[in-house]
Order: sequence, then structure tokens, then C-alpha cells
Amino acid sequence: MAVVGIDLGTTNTVVACARGGQVQVLADEQGRRLLPSVVSFLPNGEVVVGHPAKERLAIDAKNTIASAKRLIGRSWDSKEMVRARQRFPFEVKEGPREGPLVVARGHDYTLAEISAFVLRRARQIAERALGEPVERAVVTVPASFNELQRTATKVAGQVAGLEVVRIINEPTAAALAYGLGRGSHERIAVYDFGGGTFDCTLLALSDNVFEVLATAGDSYLGGDDIDLAVAERMADAFLKAHRYDPRANPQAFERLRGAAEAIKMDLSLVERSHTRLKEVAFGVGGAHLDLDFDMTRSELEALATPLVERTFAVCQEALAVAQLPVSAFDKIVLVGGSTRIPLVRRRVEQFFGRPPLDRVNPDEVVAIGAAIQAAALTEVAQGRSIPPPPVPGGPGGPRPSMRPLLPGLPPPPSASRTSSRPPRAMGDLHGARPPVLADVTPWALAVETVGGWCDVVVQRNAKIPCERTRAFTTSSDMQSAVNVRVAQGEDPLFGNNTYLGEVELVGLRAARRGEVTIQVRFEVDESGTLKVFATDTATGHEAHALLQLVAVSGEQSIEKMQARQAALKIH
Ligand code: AMP
Repeated sequence: MAVVGIDLGTTNTVVACARGGQVQVLADEQGRRLLPSVVSFLPNGEVVVGHPAKERLAIDAKNTIASAKRLIGRSWDSKEMVRARQRFPFEVKEGPREGPLVVARGHDYTLAEISAFVLRRARQIAERALGEPVERAVVTVPASFNELQRTATKVAGQVAGLEVVRIINEPTAAALAYGLGRGSHERIAVYDFGGGTFDCTLLALSDNVFEVLATAGDSYLGGDDIDLAVAERMADAFLKAHRYDPRANPQAFERLRGAAEAIKMDLSLVERSHTRLKEVAFGVGGAHLDLDFDMTRSELEALATPLVERTFAVCQEALAVAQLPVSAFDKIVLVGGSTRIPLVRRRVEQFFGRPPLDRVNPDEVVAIGAAIQAAALTEVAQGRSIPPPPVPGGPGGPRPSMRPLLPGLPPPPSASRTSSRPPRAMGDLHGARPPVLADVTPWALAVETVGGWCDVVVQRNAKIPCERTRAFTTSSDMQSAVNVRVAQGEDPLFGNNTYLGEVELVGLRAARRGEVTIQVRFEVDESGTLKVFATDTATGHEAHALLQLVAVSGEQSIEKMQARQAALKIH
């Protein structure tokens, strides 16, 4: 059975499959390889996904959900959610465990469920194209995605009936698509300019090991902003011609926005573009108001330049984190549809001092890399030998350190060690050495100690997979339970970081404060998914619950979402 690679993008989703040494980007019934990541709920209860949903943005924005990826795995109070609530035309409300819900036609949906609709459609496309069932996938996410976002993406796959065999970082996938990292040591910069977001990720590749040196991004910078600037210019022209401001009419402005994108894309190929739009709006007495609009590439470049320059401020930020000069990078990989813009390519070449790699289609490069990884994992599953991982806690495993759950105590001198598992061997498409992905945790993972402080268990940039154990003690006499609260971030104050969830360990033996030792074990797997265990060392009793992540549904509601999906047909 085929395992596919899926680039679940903010704007578009792409599905690819690698078989027999060939990678194929899979097209829908009409030969289209980009699936807009848009879901629209129709008045008759049906759900449409992709192109038909994108068309409904102009006519039913309230029940048409785009850019769900911006919100997936975010908590209700996060900055991103607050911003989205002001910007998005569809309704969002607070759900259980601080997770936001999208409301469409009177029904509530988690963000994972909205993404599941997109993944279901991608799966349908793949099954039709391959002529066989597709139940497993490698799905890509931005390198900056945190635990919650990665887990929610996995849940989306589950709800779509897909086992997500691995989550890999988008820039890593792009590098895989170029066959980079085989053997020689090199550093690469991945410049990813999409529809709604920009990311710059710096990777060190050596002997098939991929290490993220730094990643920086602007989640509100993309081709959509260029479209908006062009649409504003069109609205000015319309106002001048008809004394009617289309900005006051959302439907008319949405039309201009759609046309603006087409003009922008046109100008990637030609020097000037002419557009005639009929019946943009209706004037006095129902008169048709049309628009004739001309734009040259240099006019577009003047509008786009301030936005494009912002991408290089982000690149500088990533370089500063990596503490490397721009000249330290051997290859520059372009990802995202907006890198087709000639101005962008020119400026990337100037900034990095070398021409970027552009052999692979920038819209498809991530899905292709995911498909390559999917094929490699399939080969492993089919019997290539994998060195066994060390037994947790066994010889060479992590040694606990002691730290009371009390405020103000300095960390112990011997911090816990990583039990880094030997890299796993994987199959490879071309028979060369298999790609072994070594990513790092994008943020530190910490436990809350008394007084609201953080005790870091896994440091930022720790290579994954990894496993670390810390020991804590009770903070009060006769304490019968502990609540291990976990957050992601660098701030010493727990509350200033991203709260991930908690594990409760009950039934502690009655004792004085400090006398009961609790071992907290963090395991981060190859996909960057965190599991937290808490064990009472005296009794061996382990908390039965793994980390209960906020904003991610529990099994119960995953089942509910799956049942709802089964009852809903999509097209
Ligand atoms: P992505 O998020 O990678 O799917 O990229 C989508 C963005 O790429 C959208 O803003 C598109 O308008 C833009 N895009 C796609 N093709 C072109 C092109 N030929 N020229 C300029 N922008 C493009």
C-alpha cells in the first residue's frame, strides 16, 4: 500500500508519491496539482474542499475557512489567535481545554478537523491517481511548529483516516527533494515565501543528517500581501473611473483581489499585463461598473519591494541566531509559489551572493521531499535492519538529577543527559545511503516549579529523538498528588511560555515535604512529538495519562470527529 507525502500548506496542499525511483506529484480529476487549503460549508450540509471552496471565499466568507494552519494547535489566548479573531471573516470561539473552535453553519469544528477535510481531499486525489487505498502519510510542518501544532497536525491526519507515520520539517523536505545532505558536509538556507507566510530556515547537512541551525519567520507575510497591494491600486483606479469605492463592497473587493493575484502571476512571465473585469459592482440605476486595468512588471516590483525586503530582515534574524555570516551557506533552496516572482529571485541571489537552486518546482518541492521520506520509511518497514533503540533507563540511559519542586533553588550541577538513540537506518530511493533526519527541538521544554518558575528539562536545539529524566520532590507535607505542568519556551517565568499541558500523578505515599521523589521523563520522538511521564520512584507508580495537550482533542473527541467525517461527504 502506498505511503504518500503531503505538504499541508497554509494556502495550498500538495500530495506526492515516490515509487520505483520516481516521484510523482498527484493531480486531481482535472489535472490540478495544487489543492487550495480551503473548506466551505454549503447551505445544504455538504462540504467542498479545494478549488470549489476557494471560489466561495468571495460569496460566503463566513462559512468558508481558509488558512486553518495559522490557528492549528494554538490556544485561545495566544497572540496568533487574538490577531486571527480580528482578521478572519469566519467565527471562532473558545472550546474545551482552551482550544479554539471554528463555527460554520451552526456547527463547531476544531482546527484539526478543518485540516482533516483538506487531508481527506488530498487522500481522495491520491487514491484516484494511484488506483489503490492510501492510509499512511508523511506530513510536513514548518520548522517553527511547536508540540501542540505538531500533535494537532497528527490528529488531523487521524481524523482524515490517515496514519501520520512521520511529521517532518518543510525545509528538511525541500532539502531532501534536491537530494542534498548525501555524504558531504554543507550548510543550506531554505527561503520559503508562500501565500501567507515567510520562513527562513538554516540547516547543516552532513552524511544524511539534517540539523536545523535556526529558523525564523513572519506568519503574516506572503504573496497575499502583494495581491492586496495590487488590489488596492485597482480599487483606486475603479474609484477614479466610477466614483465608487469597491473597498466598501466586500464581494467587489474580493473580485479585485482574485484578479490581482492573476495579474501578479502573469507579471512573473511577461513585462506588462492588461485586465478587463466586467460587472465588478453596480452603480446608480443598476448600471454595470467594469474595470480596465494595466500594470507593468516594474510597477508591480515597486509595490512588492517593501514586502520582499521584509523577508531579508527575517533572514538576518535567522543568521543572527545561527551566528553565521551569509557566506557560510553553500546552497539556497527556494520554496513557495512567491519565489517565482523575478524580483524575489534577483534579491535572493543578491542577498546570499549566489544563485538559488530552482530546478524543482517551488510549489511542489516540499511534497516531493515528504514523498521521498515516505518511500524511505516504507523500505525500512519492509525489512531493512534498524539498530534497536536503547532500553529507557537501562545502561547508558538517562540518569536522573534531583530538584525539589520549590522556588528559588539553583539547578543541580549535573544536569540530566540525553540518551541519544543511534540514528536509524532507512531505505533510500536511489540506493545511496538512506536519509536520516536529525531535527532539533525548536524551543526549550520545561516543567513548572513552585512560585511559577520554569525548570528546563529539554534544552532548545536538543537533537531529537531524545529522552531526558529529572527528579523532583514534593513541596508540602502529606502531599498526595502532583500536577506536572509543562510549557515550551525560553522565559524563566512559566506563565510567559507556551503552556502545553499537564500530567497528574496521584496516590503518593504520605510523607513530609521533600521526601517523595517523582521522576519526570520527557520523550521527544523523531516527529518532535513530546510524551511526558511522571513516576513515583518509591512505588514505581506511573501517571497513567500522557501529557494532556491543550488545544488538542483527546481520544474521545477524535472518535467523535472521525464519526462526523464518516457521515459527511466531501467534494
Ligand atoms: P504556496 O503557499 O507556496 O502555495 O504559494 C502560494 C503563493 O504563491 C500565492 O500567493 C500565489 O499567488 C503565489 N504564486 C504562485 N505562482 C506564482 C507566480 N507564477 N508568480 C507569482 N506568484 C505566484
